[in-house]
Amino acid sequence: MAETNRDFWKTPAVEILRMRPGQTISELDRNGTPGFIGDKSDGLRLLEERGTDLSVLQEKLYANGRSGDRRSILLILQGMDTAGKGGMVRHVIGQVDPGGVDHASFGVPTPEEKRHHYLWRINKALPRAGQLGVFDRSHYEDVLVVRVHDLVPESVWSGRYDEINRFEKELVRGGMTLIKVAMFVSLDEQRRRLLDRLNRPDKHWKYNPADVTERKLWPAYQAAYQTMLDKTSTDYAPWYVIPSDRKWYSRIAVTELLIDAFEKLDLHWPVANFDIETEKRRLAKS
Ligand code: ADP
Repeated sequence: MAETNRDFWKTPAVEILRMRPGQTISELDRNGTPGFIGDKSDGLRLLEERGTDLSVLQEKLYANGRSGDRRSILLILQGMDTAGKGGMVRHVIGQVDPGGVDHASFGVPTPEEKRHHYLWRINKALPRAGQLGVFDRSHYEDVLVVRVHDLVPESVWSGRYDEINRFEKELVRGGMTLIKVAMFVSLDEQRRRLLDRLNRPDKHWKYNPADVTERKLWPAYQAAYQTMLDKTSTDYAPWYVIPSDRKWYSRIAVTELLIDAFEKLDLHWPVANFDIETEKRRLAKS
């Protein structure tokens, strides 16, 4: 019998990776592969197979969107520099038709963005009906970097957790499925990845001297991530905590989370709104 993804997951990704109340990220084994029984070669093979499944599901969502279905899926990626957010977009989202993907990344706010509420740029970038949205960073930067660097007073950022929960509840009510993925790389693995960027001319463009300065703020960032998870992992929009020292694992894990979300939409191919036999006859005569 052919192997299936079930043979490789002792516990489904969607169960084992979901943020548990009281879970502490300081205790997370970032080199771990929770729930997965295979090795790297299994993971890479599975990624290809499951990428095909994901691609079919995404096309169904797109097709339904064209037929008036208002639903969409939004993958939110958060993680420290080098956690692998870009690779996730390339290797996981890269497996589906780019026409069905609404991708957005969020850096330091532009002068125009700064003049608006922090959710303004988020609202503008939300996926359209039938689309798979991907956020590389998100509104969560406004309780992460903003908190760590004191960019606004605590009295302001501390109110944002509830505000974000209310915002996301509305999105879900409107037919959006949110998959919030927090990618955790270890301090040592981050050093290795930054050194790799320094050693390879094809990666110099990815290197930012500020990333090394940020490493000094590691404990403050970890605390900010912990609070984010504690306060904004809700039943309607839970966080998934992904150990990310092994890229192959984080990629297959997120692929499974996406497939699970698509399957819960119970998508079917839209039925033809024309008579097939009539059209065949017309075509034959044309
Ligand atoms: P990346 O580093 O992911 O390749 P960019 O260099 O374009 O992407 O921008 C990311 C930087 O923008 C990060 O340092 C991040 O902390 C910062 N950033 C994102 N959102 C905000 C925000 N709301 N306020 C301040 N800085 C932000």
